[in-house]
Amino acid sequence: MFATTAILASLLTSATAYAESMEIMSPGSRPSSEGPEANFTGSVTIDPLYAANENTGNVGGLVTFAPGARSAWHTHPAGQILIVTAGTGWVQEDGGEKRQIRPGDVIWTPPGVKHWHGATDKNAMSHIAVTNVKDGNNVHWMEKVSDEQFLD
Ligand code: MN
Repeated sequence: MFATTAILASLLTSATAYAESMEIMSPGSRPSSEGPEANFTGSVTIDPLYAANENTGNVGGLVTFAPGARSAWHTHPAGQILIVTAGTGWVQEDGGEKRQIRPGDVIWTPPGVKHWHGATDKNAMSHIAVTNVKDGNNVHWMEKVSDEQFLD
């Protein structure tokens, strides 16, 4: 009985002294920001999820587009994964058709492919963006998506 208690006590002590390496980054620990006018049309809110480090090589963010809001045309030097979490949106690559995206859709954009993503004209859309970093860059911004292109 004494031995069992002693072992239990030693386990509790070691658990208390153990330095956690896993990191839990809670919602609200970083402020939201507005998508800058230069790179977005309409109301866009960006909630940073995590920064890149030497192991991940990518940056994560939750992006929420109000109805009618969208990114400018852009490319990613090492590609991007979008995971739609809410609403209904559109994505289009240069030369391709505008395509609808819904919650649960996972979209891979290869390096260098010119594209945009956003809400539809009538509904909001949120996605998590996992954007790979190459030589310190993760996006190359281009011209805005015109209303004509957006509604085409
Ligand atoms: Mn993109």
